[in-house]
Amino acid sequence: AAEWERFTAGTPASGEHNARASTTLPLGVTSSFQHWDPYPVSIVSARGAWLTDVDGRRLLDLSMGFGAMLVGHLNPLVVQRVTHALEETGTLFVTPSPTATEVAERFKARFGLGMLRFTNSGTESLMYAVRSARAYTGRKAIIKIEGGYHGGYDALQVSVKPALEDIGPAEAPIPDVPFDVEAGTVYVTPYNDLPYLTRLLEEHASEVAAVVMEPVVENLSIVLPDAGYLAGVRAACDAHGVLLIFDEVKTGLTAGYAGASQRLGVKPDLVTLAKSIGGGLPLAAFGGTDEVMQVVVDGRMAHFGTYNGNPLVMAAASAVDELCTHEALDAAEAVNVHALTAIDAVIAEYELPAHTVGFGAKGCVTWSTRPVRNYRDYKATDFGVAELSWLWGVNRGVLTPPGLDEQWLVSLAHTDADMDTLVGEFTDLAKALR
Ligand code: PLP
Repeated sequence: AAEWERFTAGTPASGEHNARASTTLPLGVTSSFQHWDPYPVSIVSARGAWLTDVDGRRLLDLSMGFGAMLVGHLNPLVVQRVTHALEETGTLFVTPSPTATEVAERFKARFGLGMLRFTNSGTESLMYAVRSARAYTGRKAIIKIEGGYHGGYDALQVSVKPALEDIGPAEAPIPDVPFDVEAGTVYVTPYNDLPYLTRLLEEHASEVAAVVMEPVVENLSIVLPDAGYLAGVRAACDAHGVLLIFDEVKTGLTAGYAGASQRLGVKPDLVTLAKSIGGGLPLAAFGGTDEVMQVVVDGRMAHFGTYNGNPLVMAAASAVDELCTHEALDAAEAVNVHALTAIDAVIAEYELPAHTVGFGAKGCVTWSTRPVRNYRDYKATDFGVAELSWLWGVNRGVLTPPGLDEQWLVSLAHTDADMDTLVGEFTDLAKALR
């Protein structure tokens, strides 16, 4: 309660802004993920790793656009390319354009894809990836991970972070219950549970088009795959002629040069990319093997979109591709490791019931002494302390993502010194908790 009082006392202009915005925009925000009670902080500008809010406070940004701002706010190369597009080339032709082809060729090479198409959001990419898999296999059902979030497409709205009382006891889990969405059944499997998935496939493979999953679940903080799990999923899909879709909207370039699939050594049939590839502009993509992407070529799966691959986002994406070298991404990861190591030391010193998880340039503190392997483990973590820890940071100038499901991103703009700001406030929290 004291921290919430401190929050409202320190952010009067954000409160006023939210009151005004709420009369026009539901909840006063343009995406419900931007909202928290009693109101979110409103931001007026950002540069590098730092934000300025409407109260004039500077905040270290560790949310970084839910991971989209990998190259940092107002990255000079992105600004230069986008400005060039705005001033010299134009922003929308709805015709083929060499810039889009060049960016597509670079992403094809980087991610080891046969073909890809651009879209404007992760939601769209997931929708088209699922449709592609359905068109390719001639089957309708899909399998997704319990608790997993993949954007707003109807077929993926099943089992998105459900309340535990809605999914029943672990020994008789809801994943057995099929949901009928858009005339396609959606089955749900716990993450890191290969026997469960294998059983589902053995029973239902003849109707299943694809398994859709984040290779590393980054919508439940960070949940890493057990050794051999992803290879097992790949083999199980192959054994049943089911496509594997990796949703790399959140992992993508934050996981390394060619995404999580390359880092973890398991290749999907289709991949969805968004956030980190766009440098902060609305860019996403779906792509896969030549064979699967033939469904777009021959029209079995129609893909349209006025703004797809428009010159403005392509200009930003060309900058992102140039900026995200092995060296630059390794450097961001090293800054992340610096922060994780320091926070581990604080956790040990103050004997906090917590541990850190890192993957590439992303990291989080999970308030549990046990490792989190799936959604049920995640729901068993201490959300009370997690919320306090997040609010403590906001009140002291460090914005980690709200909603607690997200993780921090170390962008190319963050330094060890920036991350020491996080470590400092976390140490003060540890002292207060003692
Ligand atoms: N897939 C995952 C894993 C996501 O985290 C998100 C958004 O956070 C999406 C898909 C949807 O992307 P978008 O918000 O761009 O529609």
